[in-house]
Amino acid sequence: QDFFTESNQKLALFNDFLSTPKQIVITTHQNPDADALGSSLGLSAYLKKKGHFPIIITPTDYPDFLRWMSGESEVINFESDRQDLAKKLIANADMIFCLDFSALNRIKGMEEFVKQSAAKKVLIDHHQQPENFADFVFWNERAAATCELIYELIEKLGDKHLIDVPAAECLYAGLVTDTGSFRFDSTSEEVHRIAGELISIGIHPNTIHRKIFDSNTFDRMKFLGFVLGEKLTYLPEYNVAYMAISKEELGRFSSKNGDTEGVVNYGLSIKGVVMAAIFTEKDDMIRISLRSVDNFSVSEFSRTHFNGGGHKNAAGGRSHESLEKTVEKFLSLLPQYKDELTNS
Ligand code: 5GP
Ligand code: MN
Repeated sequence: QDFFTESNQKLALFNDFLSTPKQIVITTHQNPDADALGSSLGLSAYLKKKGHFPIIITPTDYPDFLRWMSGESEVINFESDRQDLAKKLIANADMIFCLDFSALNRIKGMEEFVKQSAAKKVLIDHHQQPENFADFVFWNERAAATCELIYELIEKLGDKHLIDVPAAECLYAGLVTDTGSFRFDSTSEEVHRIAGELISIGIHPNTIHRKIFDSNTFDRMKFLGFVLGEKLTYLPEYNVAYMAISKEELGRFSSKNGDTEGVVNYGLSIKGVVMAAIFTEKDDMIRISLRSVDNFSVSEFSRTHFNGGGHKNAAGGRSHESLEKTVEKFLSLLPQYKDELTNS
């Protein structure tokens, strides 16, 4: 039940380092989701209570449906006019926490500055194939969410009583979203134990769930109708469903960052579908989101063909070809996976 990949001795070293007030930077992956931002804010609230000076710097902006999180307004977006301040904070930090990612290219423009900083690096994550760049590594691929690992770390340090309701709400948000509202294969007894303890602290599950999922704009619902009606393609011979959405189509519904979030799951909800994909045209690349069930590993699929990675059943990647070419490539790969996709 030792969730951390390193020893208790290492945990003691970590604890020692934090025994005096420190300047701390917390960062997470680009396009932060609820687990990325929730774990960052939950950790930040805890570190403040311990007398430290944490600041969260995200590589990019994040969707509006996360703006209810406590402490969110203090987050610095690296891609804003506060980039110079962010660079100074990174260079002068005593410690940098890297949450919910384990490959440095996922922090986009921040990568070189984090690499160059003399700060101690701490990696807390649950993605496959972590890179070796941190001084302290709290990593577990079987964890459902980084929020789960943050809770366990605080617990291990004997400080559970320092988690207040606003921080508990942030941690709960990461558990909810990364488990697909407690339905993915990663939904363990441990996840429910922690969710239960967060409820004991005083969070209200229905309120959090509604803040995240029932905050659609009318435009977003129209966009969803368009995508499901016109864009969803089902290939029963491969048990695959996919959608490809151009920039023009996103523009038609004045779509915002985050509007395509979760849409890929509709493909996976067709009976018998084993892999679902969504291709979204961005300014400088095609973003790919992949989901699967059971043994088919989309992280491996994405790593091999689309410069990505993630988890066995939820992964992402990117392509620098056109939307059409990217979809063509995807379709041309399916025959070689036919057995795997149809025999599970
Ligand atoms: P999403 O499809 O929601 O963007 O991502 C699904 C999962 O894969 C998330 O856990 C996300 O952090 C991860 N992921 C997305 N893109 C990449 C990538 O390029 N590399 C890695 N290692 N993980 C990714
Ligand atoms: Mn996560």
